[in-house]
Parts: sequence; structure tokens; C-alpha cells
Amino acid sequence: MSLTLTVHRGTREIGGSCIEIAHPDGARLVLDAGRPLDAPVGASGLLPASLDRVKPATVLVSHPHQDHHGLLHELPKDWVVWTGQASARLIAISEKMAKTSAPRGLRTWTSRGAPLRFGPFTVTPILTDHSAFDAYMLLVEGAGRRILYTGDFRRHGRKSSLVDALIARPPKEVDVLVCEGTNLGTDKPTATEAELEGEFAALFRRTRGRIFVAWSGQNIDRTVTLYRAAKRTGRTLVIDLYTADVLDRIADGTKLPRAGFPNLKVVVTAGLRTFYVVQGREEFVSRMVPHGVAARNVPADAVVMIRRSLIRDYSRAGLHPTKDDAFNHSMWRGYLKEAYYAEPLEWCRAGGAKLAYLHTSGHASSDDLRAFAAAMSAKVVVPVHGQNWDAQGHGFDAIHRLGDGEPWVLQ
Ligand SMILES: [Zn+2]
Ligand SMILES: [Zn+2]
Repeated sequence: MSLTLTVHRGTREIGGSCIEIAHPDGARLVLDAGRPLDAPVGASGLLPASLDRVKPATVLVSHPHQDHHGLLHELPKDWVVWTGQASARLIAISEKMAKTSAPRGLRTWTSRGAPLRFGPFTVTPILTDHSAFDAYMLLVEGAGRRILYTGDFRRHGRKSSLVDALIARPPKEVDVLVCEGTNLGTDKPTATEAELEGEFAALFRRTRGRIFVAWSGQNIDRTVTLYRAAKRTGRTLVIDLYTADVLDRIADGTKLPRAGFPNLKVVVTAGLRTFYVVQGREEFVSRMVPHGVAARNVPADAVVMIRRSLIRDYSRAGLHPTKDDAFNHSMWRGYLKEAYYAEPLEWCRAGGAKLAYLHTSGHASSDDLRAFAAAMSAKVVVPVHGQNWDAQGHGFDAIHRLGDGEPWVLQ
């Protein structure tokens, strides 16, 4: 008797990840319960129909991105959910922002990677490099088989040495590698965060006025990159209250920049201040105020965070882009099709700001994906989290292609 692997969603798409590993004695693990990236805002009932919700399961969330945890609130309430310590805090922030139903309590593992026991399974979380902070690969052992799930990863971020170390000393005798393939067959930029820092520093040097930057407040690597580039060029990085909240919850005991650091200010805007006060978090806001700056006082040479919800507060305070300024969308280019992401760009363009595009992907390049899979030398590779696996499977040994919801008993 062997393990049964079912990819409920993600064999042919990016996001909505949901993978089940069942033991012959009936115990089950569910790796990720992600929201499909193309699900309309407000849509519900999105869990894959093939996921049996009657039999109990233990859920492990690889990292705090919506496409991996966004359906947790749809799972049966008695299913226990585990994730990393910082991940749990970041997921709680996202659930507050998304206003999904009451967030459930999450149990947590530490980033040190001690193996965990779940009935007949042993799971080792392996901290990895990704645009989400506190992201893990998961090594699952049971019934004499070993499955390594990559989650989402890359090898060019600020934690790339973790992936290098795994490639140098891979887990022994992996039967199945469940591998993400986001960037297969794409030309997404995969410069290192360190290279990106240099490019930002150059942009900051050649820009006379402010640089408005749109990036995800939960992309901690990018916050660090922007902060370091600002410091190198004598500028101040101005983050919003949301990004300050993210850093406030995870930075303790780390070297991560946060409120109170030099060359860093928190812009205290009416909209976000109200958001936190309504949540009963006046204490957080009042802690940020001494490190804050009103929108009307943002320095003329600052690097300023911009997102759609900040435009109104900035405009009312007289903080406008000018022809001396620059704008940079530091996220996937495809998001610009959505008004939420396009509006900050249009607002800056209308003010005469020069447009730049400095970004690097949160996912491994095609070459790094192939090098990683080769080093793991699993007997079988099961493709997930990619759209181009069928055309780009070369260079991966022994691919076993599954369909969504198709159970596969490991040999
Ligand atoms: Zn993902
Ligand atoms: Zn991700």
C-alpha cells in the first residue's frame, strides 16, 4: 500500500493551489488551499469539487500568498491548519484586508525546520527563497515514500543561499517532486534582488524629484531592496501604514527595516488611519506617528510608496507627481491590465512623471527550475503551478502529468 497524491487544482494553472496526500490508513494532508487568481472579487464556493470535505484532514500552508491560503475560510472549521510563524501573522493581515469571514487560528512551525509528526506522516518544512516572506518547501514522508513539494520558490532573491544549499545537499531518495513552473516559457525578469537594488539606486540618482513606487507591502525582499537603494543615494523611503504594520509584525529579532530606522518614514494618511482605528488598533497608529510624516510634508526627494487607495489622500494633501518625478511599477507587468494597478501609473503619467519598470520575478527562472529538479533527482516530477508545462517539460526527467482532481497511487 502506498501514498495517493491528488492535485485538486493547479496542474495547468498558476494559483488556486490545493494538493492532497493520502495515507493508506486513511490519514490525509492537504498542502495549500489557494484562491484561483482569476476568481472574481467576492466570489465564494471556490474550493475544488474533488476535495472531500467529509473526511478529516490536516492542512499545511506553504507561504502567505492568496493563491495558496485564500480559501482557508471555506474549509471545514475542525480541520487544523499549520503554517510558518511569520506566515501566520501575514495571513492574518491579508484576511483582515480581504474581509473574509473570521480568520481561523493557525498552528505554527518555526523556521528552523524541525520535522513535524501528523499521524503516520512526517513533514519537514524547508525555508526557501520567494517573494513571499517565510515561504517553505514541504518534505512529506509516509508509507515508505517521500514527496517534496516546492511550494513557490526562486533562486535570485535575498534568501537564494537556502536554495543553493538544498541543491548542494538534496534530501535523499525523493520519490516524487511536486514542482512549481510559473516562469516556464515566459520572459519574466529574473535579475537578483541585489542587481535590482543597483538599478533602483541608478534610477534614484538620475531622478531630480520624487520616485513613486508601486510594490506589494508583503514583498519584504522588495521593501529591503528599495530601502537599501534609498540609503545608498541619501533618500528617504516613505512607506504607508499597511507596510509599516507588516514590518512591525515580523521584524522583531531580524535586521529588517521598520519604523524608527534612519532614511525611513511612515506616511500617515486619513484613509489607513481610519482603517486601523476602526479595528481598535489606535495603539499601533500612535506608535507609528513619531516616525511618521503627513502626506503634505513628504520630502521633495523621497521614494514614496503608491497604491490606488493612497491617491485620494495624497491629492488632498497636495502631494502630486510632477515632471521632475519618476514612477516605477515594481510588480508583475500583467497586473497593469487591472484598474487597481493601472491607476497609480496613470496618475503619475498625467503629472508628467517619467515611467520606469524595475522588477524581478518572485519565481525561479526556467534554468533554475531545471537545475533544481535535476539536483533533487526524484524518480518522478509532478508539474503544478504553471501554464506551459506541456511545451516546456524538456530538461525534467520522468514527468508524470496529472489532471486536476485525478488521484494517483504512487508506485
Ligand atoms: Zn503561487
Ligand atoms: Zn507565492
